[in-house]
Parts: sequence; C-alpha cells; structure tokens
Amino acid sequence: MERPKVILKQGKEQSLLRFHPWIFSGAIKSVTAMPDEGQVVDVWSTDGKYLASGHFASGSIAVRILSFQPVDIDKTFWLSRINIALARRKAIGLYPNTTTNIFRLVHGEGDNLPGLIIDIYGDTAVMQCHSVGMYLARTAIADAVMQVLPETIKAVYDKSSGTLPYREKYNPTDGYLVGSESANTPCLEYGNKYHISWADGQKTGFFIDQRENRLLLQLYAQGKSVLNTFGYTGGFSVSALKGGANEVVTVDSSAPAVTFANRNVELNFGANAPHTGIAMDTFEYLRTCNRTFDIIVLDPPAFAKHSDALRNALQAYKRLNLAAIRRLNPGGLLFTFSCSQVVNKTDFRNAVFSAAAISGRPVSILHQLTQPADHPINIYHPEGEYLKGLVLSVL
Ligand code: SAH
Repeated sequence: MERPKVILKQGKEQSLLRFHPWIFSGAIKSVTAMPDEGQVVDVWSTDGKYLASGHFASGSIAVRILSFQPVDIDKTFWLSRINIALARRKAIGLYPNTTTNIFRLVHGEGDNLPGLIIDIYGDTAVMQCHSVGMYLARTAIADAVMQVLPETIKAVYDKSSGTLPYREKYNPTDGYLVGSESANTPCLEYGNKYHISWADGQKTGFFIDQRENRLLLQLYAQGKSVLNTFGYTGGFSVSALKGGANEVVTVDSSAPAVTFANRNVELNFGANAPHTGIAMDTFEYLRTCNRTFDIIVLDPPAFAKHSDALRNALQAYKRLNLAAIRRLNPGGLLFTFSCSQVVNKTDFRNAVFSAAAISGRPVSILHQLTQPADHPINIYHPEGEYLKGLVLSVL
C-alpha cells in the first residue's frame, strides 16, 4: 500500500540528514494524504528526495523516524531491530546472565525505536508505548520479543496506559499481550533479589538505569552508615547492605514504596537486617533527623519536566544537596543524581557546586556517573541523555 508522504519545508531536511529521529510539526510543508494517528509515513524533501519513514503523530513531534530506508514496517522489521538491541545487551554480558535477569531490552531512540521501551524482568517482558504508532504495533512487537528470546520470555505485559498520548481515544488498559502472571519468583540484579511489581509499581516496576551505580555504592559500603533517600523499592539499600553497611535508612514519601523496600531487604537479608524504612518527605527528613551518616544517596524524581521549570529545579537540587552535605560525617560520600532530561550535566554540576560552596566544606568529585549501556544514547539525539550523577567525597 502506498504510504502517505510528508513533505518538508525547504531546509528542514537538515536534521534528518544528520539522523535526528524526530520531525516537528512546524517543519512540514504538506502531506499527500492526511495520515491517521500512528500511521507509517514516508518523509520527502521539497525537491523530491526520499529521506526517511516513521510513525505519524498529531503532536509537536509529528514523525518519529523508524528507518532512513524505505523498508516495510512489518514482522521482519521488528525482529531485526529487537535482535540488534539484544545483541548489544549480549555483548556486554547482560544476557544470558545467571546473576542479573533484569535489564532494558529496548530504549527508544537509543535503539532506533522511538516511542518504545521494553524491560525484561526474568521471564516477563514489560512494554511501554509512548506513541500511538508503537501502540498500534504492540502485538507484532510482542510476537517479535517472544521470537527473539524464545526460551526465556513466557509473558509480555503492556503498560502503556500511563504513557500513551490521546488516552481517551484508545482507552488503553494494561495487561498481558502474551502469557500471564508468572509464579512471581524474585528477579535478580548482581545476585540481589527483588520482587518487581510491574502492574502497581512506578515506570515499568524498577529503576533499571541505576544498576551500575548501585553496584558502585556496594563497593563503598563496608562498615558504613547509609541514608538512601528517594529510595523507592530499596535498590540502593539492598546494594549497601550487600556491601556490608552496618546500618541503612531508606526514606521515600510513598508508603507503598517503603513497604516494597522493606520487603526487598527482608528477601535478601532476613527480618533482622540493620535497616529502617521511613515514609517521609526527604527534605523534611534531612531537616529533622538530628544525626549524620557516612554515605547519603540522593536520587530524586525529575524536578523539571520542561525547560520552563529549569530555574526552580536547579534551586531544588541546590537545597537538597546542601541539606545532605550538612548531614555527612567528615570523610563521607554523597551519591547525588538528576534524572531530569532538561537539566544538563553542567547545570547539575553547578547546582551541586553551589551547595558545596555554601556548606564551606572541602569537596572532591570521585565519580561522574551516567546511564548504563542498556539505556543507550543515540548520538544524533542528545536529548536521550538524561541520567547524571556525581559521587562526592566531603571532608
Ligand atoms: N533510587 C530509586 C529510584 C527513585 S525514584 C531506585 O534505585 O530504585 C524516585 C522516588 O522518589 C519515588 O519512589 C518517589 O515516591 C520518591 N519521592 C518523590 N518525591 C519525594 C520526596 N519529596 N521525598 C521522598 N521521596 C520522594
């Protein structure tokens, strides 16, 4: 079937020639036939050159590019892209792996599949569609996942109800596209066990992107007192205990998250582990805790979702980091993160710098952290770099 053609305004093909995976609506001169939401379209330049093919959307991102070749977007296409994504994870040893069976299989633009996230939790794949195009293809994508990981994956769960645009129209409900809930055996990250609840948890159930940073904390934790703020399901807390921390406090404002964190600690270390979960606002806890720690982890949710909120977000990072530095013992470590995509590395470092300067303490950067290889950044789409972290030594 002939696909609708989207013709760009003169000069607007430049970003596509540099492989940027999005076309904004303002770049479009005309269409040969009005595409449906989510339909695959071909993109052409004003002077009649084919440029790319992608999913059409009626928002400000009008086309998300799937291919720079005029290929069919069919079963073969999904299989090929998911196989390439899997090959990257295999190359770094994430699959197959006896001690880690939690990883991200598809990371949107970073895996040349804009609008699609697929996370693997043991024998279940959890899919999240951020575009209607991906949502309409979800069954074909689920089939491809089953084919690419035939021995491993028994179920594919679609969790797009919170991420899909135009929800009123598509009325998405979360649920299994393939298989059903498994026996709920714990999933593994570096041998640490986690109960993951993709149906009820935030995102797809777990913050997979902090895997390597949690391991780094484990290496520093021996004999230390550790405060894990914004702790969610207790990932950093479990890693700290695994590394031999003598005391860990998890703080999260969500009571269900603290219950999950307590449960994950118990799953790994039993009921008597030196761990306390506290359901409280982190700023409030740091203000009132009346004690200090050897290591503090700050992993807040994105303070700025849009660039208009940038100034306030930077102020919030500064206040948070200052409050934490003041609660560190001499020689202590601060693991501090930002997952706001609109806050770049330099902005974040400046906010932390201001906090350090106000504290008046000598501070050195030991590590500069980022997202792991299963959250790749498409070099033509720098917007995909979102996770930034610093490990500071505070004297
Ligand atoms: N570090 C976690 C992920 C953190 S996600 C991990 O490794 O899995 C951010 C968490 O911050 C969420 O669980 C959310 O409930 C919590 N949160 C949001 N605002 C908060 C606040 N003001 N104080 C404490 N926790 C907060």
